[in-house]
Amino acid sequence: MDFSYSERTGQLRRQVQDFMDRYVIPSIPDWQREVAAGNPHPALVEDLKTLARDEGLWNLFLPSLRDDEPGQPLSNLEYAPLAEIMGRVVWASEVFNCSAPDTGNMEILHLFGTPEQRERWLDPLLRGEIRSCFAMTEPDVASSDANNIQTSIARDGGDYVINGRKWFISGAAHPRCTVSIVMGVTDPQGEPHRRQSMVIVPMDTPGVEVIRNIPVMNHVSVEGHCEIVYRNVRVPVANVIREEGAGFAIAQARLGPGRIHHCMRSIGQSELALELMCERAAERKTFGRYLHQHANVAEWIALSRIEIEQARLLVLKAAWMIDRHGAKEAAREIAMIKALVPRMQTAVCERAMQVHGAMGLGPDTPLPILWMWGRILRLADGPDEVHLRTIARQEMNAAQARRGSLLPFMGVPGAAGRLG
Ligand SMILES: Cc1cc2nc3c(=O)[nH]c(=O)nc-3n(C[C@H](O)[C@H](O)[C@H](O)COP(=O)(O)OP(=O)(O)OC[C@H]3O[C@@H](n4cnc5c(N)ncnc54)[C@H](O)[C@@H]3O)c2cc1C
Repeated sequence: MDFSYSERTGQLRRQVQDFMDRYVIPSIPDWQREVAAGNPHPALVEDLKTLARDEGLWNLFLPSLRDDEPGQPLSNLEYAPLAEIMGRVVWASEVFNCSAPDTGNMEILHLFGTPEQRERWLDPLLRGEIRSCFAMTEPDVASSDANNIQTSIARDGGDYVINGRKWFISGAAHPRCTVSIVMGVTDPQGEPHRRQSMVIVPMDTPGVEVIRNIPVMNHVSVEGHCEIVYRNVRVPVANVIREEGAGFAIAQARLGPGRIHHCMRSIGQSELALELMCERAAERKTFGRYLHQHANVAEWIALSRIEIEQARLLVLKAAWMIDRHGAKEAAREIAMIKALVPRMQTAVCERAMQVHGAMGLGPDTPLPILWMWGRILRLADGPDEVHLRTIARQEMNAAQARRGSLLPFMGVPGAAGRLG
């Protein structure tokens, strides 16, 4: 495995960094002012999108992007260091049309959409004209287990009629969120992994109601993590993605790349937290020493560096595996980074906040938001425990397959004497 940057990646890194330095980072105060004034989608984001697109920094996340689609197709390994740079500003990915949950939805429509679905929904998403959300989790059932999803998608002539309640649906409060991809049950009696389907539901369909934007840790995000009710919502059967019963399989396909993108951004956010920690440790003094001269703070800095490097290498390995062998083959690596990176991020941010003293918990650094993103990712796209379960199962399957082969390593009476 070779994770060194190709010439193209090196060039793109410089371009994205340059774009961030010239346009995005100087816009942070304006963005914050506008959002604080109640505008969830400042116009400056649209201006920056136009600039990014003109510079070819567009749709960088989609390896299968076609020549006639806007942007440039990169492998996951090529995209990883770019997502890391974008991740440092939590709203920057949208500027490059690389933000969740749109990326996952575009990926699904790219893989499975019919020509009509692509034209109506994928193309405007790829052009950055609309946004979307992905509605799976439900308040009434433990949604870590997708088999539990109970929203009903019932066939009625040429339509589906959808009834159900979803919550924590990211992006649904965005003023341009025009379409949702809804997971629900089309065949209640079917084989468990074939009961679910995914259906495209325009947000302005009668019966779709965004009930509230749920605050996360008392923080109301501008794009929202919303509760949505679908009440007798009618869409044509042509809105099913791939086919009836394919919901479970599509969810797996969607969540692979989506998870790795989150982890890439998290690495960038952790780097920023470490930089802030070092800066503060170099300027504040207690008991006659700069903070970094206290052994425990020096250790926090060193541990953070080690943990970020470890996490980055595993993320790159997962990216390499997806590129080479596909998301299914990379399931173990994807599960590992999804369980590892958010924990690393919260640990690094936690140390950085501590080094900042009271300021670390206030609004004058991005640390609380960076910590919160790490904490969110311990649940969003599946809780840690589900990913750990996947890893443990694979380990145990491998253990079953090699049963008995470890006997030569075991203590056999008399063997030690013979070896000696
Ligand atoms: C900010 C935010 C944004 C989100 N965005 C979206 C979105 O856009 N779309 C969407 O559909 N969902 C979204 N989610 C929901 C998220 O995917 C779910 O919360 C998650 O899958 C867990 O489902 P649940 O909340 O129903 O928890 P439950 O399924 O009730 O699980 C509760 C807890 O049980 C434990 N647990 C579960 N399974 C196991 C196991 N096998 N072994 C041991 N312990 C276990 C875990 O600790 C878990 O946290 C978002 C969540 C948050 C917080």
